Amino acid sequence: MKQYFVQTFGCQMNVHDSRRIEEVLLASGFREASEPALADLLVVNTCSVREKAEHKLMSLLGTFRPFKEARPGLVLAVAGCVAQQEGDRLLRKAPFVDIVLGPDNIPELPALVREAEQGAPPITRTVFDMDDPHFLRAKPHPDRREVTAYVTVMKGCDERCTFCLVPYTRGSERYRPADEIVGEIQDLVAGAVREITLRGQTVNSWHEPGAEAEASKAESRTAASTSRFAGLLWRIANEVPGLARLRYTSPHPRHITAELLAAHAELEVLPSHVHLPVQSGSDRVLRRMARRYTAEEYIARTDALKQAKPGLTLSADFIVGFPGETEEDFEQTVDLVRRVGFVAAFAFKYSPRPYTPALKLRDEVSEEAKDDRLARLFAVVDEQQQAHLQSLVGQELQVLVEGPSPGDTGRFTGRSQRNEIVHLIAPEGVDPTGHLVAVTIDKPYRHSLSGYMSGAGALPERGPRRRLSVLDAGGAS
Ligand code: SF4
Repeated sequence: MKQYFVQTFGCQMNVHDSRRIEEVLLASGFREASEPALADLLVVNTCSVREKAEHKLMSLLGTFRPFKEARPGLVLAVAGCVAQQEGDRLLRKAPFVDIVLGPDNIPELPALVREAEQGAPPITRTVFDMDDPHFLRAKPHPDRREVTAYVTVMKGCDERCTFCLVPYTRGSERYRPADEIVGEIQDLVAGAVREITLRGQTVNSWHEPGAEAEASKAESRTAASTSRFAGLLWRIANEVPGLARLRYTSPHPRHITAELLAAHAELEVLPSHVHLPVQSGSDRVLRRMARRYTAEEYIARTDALKQAKPGLTLSADFIVGFPGETEEDFEQTVDLVRRVGFVAAFAFKYSPRPYTPALKLRDEVSEEAKDDRLARLFAVVDEQQQAHLQSLVGQELQVLVEGPSPGDTGRFTGRSQRNEIVHLIAPEGVDPTGHLVAVTIDKPYRHSLSGYMSGAGALPERGPRRRLSVLDAGGAS
């Protein structure tokens, strides 16, 4: 049986795509190789979000080249956003690559591998499935005990942020039918998944394909909900009772609607945390980024979310040192961080991306200024995060346990209702993986919490898994 090895770069979205690549290969008779040297097919799944993505890819291809030279029958494929972005150019730069595959062309991989094995010349397949979008359905892996899973609800992006390559590498927005989404979630939950994260570039712009994005205000909530994102959340909550938590990533501030706020207020399955990218707190910079909201509008939406669900926390993405960002602009970002009270942040120094409109903005910020602003931004967020984590000491949190902590610590790791990472001690012989358990917090770490399971009277033993009676939402386990 032929073996494959998939090397994944970058973001969580890409990890999800790599899973789909593996599933397509397993279904066509491949099995996973334990190391690249043993593989008949090497796939590099690339991400263009981070800096120097192409440079990193070329460096990795350089390390794979000797395998290819030692075994001419080996097939080398490059997939993902850099493949989409570079297409044939990649084949010119690395002529020993056999297949360049865009994110929408994953189902074609086995057939392309067969052609390459039969001596076909190198090929590029980077066609967007605009007219007939395909969303590969996850197949729960019997050997993987997964508590959390991602489900794609849309792909592409109709925003045109001037720093971003996504509209170029992933195309315009395409939406997945709600029936398919709900069906996939039901399958995953039947396979012991307890938490689903709906994913899409602007996930909350989802609407039923073919349906009007703007549902009539006269419609009842149930009727409106059938076609828009908040309604999808209601439908999943109603039709997948075994689901413990339903998260979504990444929402766009422009699509925080009244319906979505109501869903946060009423649906217990939605956690008390939202990651809502903002990028900057300066209206001038937001305009140059083409984000299509002001700092004040962003703050109003986060206030509304907090009002809808008391105790809700927020995190966000930031870019510092965008072309033309002054010290005053940056100070406005810091003000916004304090005003919203973010408890976590993903922040990056701006770096130019090929083919993006921001390349034309010439007034660059020095590397020193970018480094300084990034450090100051993290310092403020860290301070807020520490205060928040410290405030939880002594509290009992509901934690969805994802599995043993890395390393031989004897502890388990999970996430709270608000998304704090919790390292917990379970009673001797008990395996709480996949269960919602009560955990009393005893101390904060730098970015996470430590605690111990409370209510030891109704605990499952290690070995065959038993359902917890306390706090357990009742999924398949
Ligand atoms: S909304 Fe997100 S994915 Fe879309 S262009 Fe802006 S940054 Fe890129």
